[in-house]
Amino acid sequence: MTMPETDTTHVPRIWAGCYACYLQGRRVGDWYDATEAMGITPACLHHVPAARVPVGHDTIAAVETVGFPEVGDLLSMPEVAAWAEALTSVEPHLRPALVAWVDCGDYVAQGRCTALPATDDFEERYCGEWESFDEFAHEEAGLTDLFADVPDDLIRHFSMASWTAELAEGYTTAPCPGGGVYVYDRY
Ligand SMILES: [Zn+2]
Repeated sequence: MTMPETDTTHVPRIWAGCYACYLQGRRVGDWYDATEAMGITPACLHHVPAARVPVGHDTIAAVETVGFPEVGDLLSMPEVAAWAEALTSVEPHLRPALVAWVDCGDYVAQGRCTALPATDDFEERYCGEWESFDEFAHEEAGLTDLFADVPDDLIRHFSMASWTAELAEGYTTAPCPGGGVYVYDRY
């Protein structure tokens, strides 16, 4: 088994397996794009015609996922399809930030009974990838402009740390896989 390449395309992938075989300690399955989940059949997992699928081997589970948030083990194919639809509804380069938003826990769900993220809210709230929240605060949130007309010696006496801390209450951050932070507007 080789890991699929997702670094550039950020297509969510699953290793879909026969659940009955999985319970018997056998890995019967393969890697698929998560968007194909509803088209996977027990017959194709077992590499046999439909009529020769062993009795009771008709449940498929995602044994591994790549490009998904940590949403639990052994997702069903309808669950995979729902996640795939949400994750692929944003541009590929934004998907790692969407996954991190869900994983940080402080995100907007599509409803009260689902963990799926509201991707419209994500796109409104995502503020980009930064070396640190302080860098975001200075560059993007107006700290630079705020102090544009203030003499340097006064700035030195001002507590930037407390100003940044107050600003931070309006934002959520999550670690980037490659270092730095993703920043999201909280309100
Ligand atoms: Zn099986």
